Amino acid sequence: AKPIVAIVGRPNVGKSTFFNRIAGKRISIVEDKPGVTRDRIYTEAEWLNNTFTMIDTGGIEPDTQDIILSQMRRQAEIAIETADVIVFMVDGREGLTASDEDVANMLRRTKKPVLLVVNKIDTKDLPSSFYDFYQLGLGEPIPISSVNSLGLGDLLDEIIAKF
Ligand code: GDP
Ligand code: MG
Repeated sequence: AKPIVAIVGRPNVGKSTFFNRIAGKRISIVEDKPGVTRDRIYTEAEWLNNTFTMIDTGGIEPDTQDIILSQMRRQAEIAIETADVIVFMVDGREGLTASDEDVANMLRRTKKPVLLVVNKIDTKDLPSSFYDFYQLGLGEPIPISSVNSLGLGDLLDEIIAKF
C-alpha cells in the first residue's frame, strides 16, 4: 500500500490550500471562513517517483471554540492512527496559539514522524514570531507559502524521506 500523509492543524491555517497545490487540482474547498472542508478528503500525489496518498483531515470546520478543539483532537487521532507521516500545519501570520499547543501535545506522543509546517510565510524573510514554533517541541519548523508556492519542494523532500 502507498504511504499515507495526513495534514492536521486548526481551521484556516491553509490545509486545504496546501492539499490542492500538491494534488494539482482543486479538490478540497478553500474558504476565508472556517467551516467548509468536507470530512477527510483523499488524493494521490507523486514527488520524485514516490507516490503517496494525502489526506486533508479538515472536516466540517466549526466556529465555536470548544467544537474546534474537539474536532482538532479528532483529526489528530485519525492522523496518528492512519498516517505514515503527519504534516502539522500552523499559521505563520497569526503565530503560535493555544490550540496549536493542544494538538502538539497529542502529536508529541506518537512515534510516527511529524513535520511541523509553518504556512503563510509568503516572503523570503522569516518573521520573528516564526521562532516561537520551536516551543512546540516538534523539531525544526518548516516555512512554506501555499499561496505563493514557496518551500513546497523542500517540504515534499522531507515528507518522502520519512517513508
Ligand atoms: P484550512 O481551513 O486549514 O483548510 O485553510 P484554507 O486552505 O481554507 O485557507 C484559509 C485561508 O488562508 C484562505 O483565505 C487561504 O487563501 C489562506 N491561505 C492559505 N495558504 C496561504 C498562504 O500560504 N499565504 C497566505 N497569505 N494565505 C494563505
Ligand atoms: Mg480546509
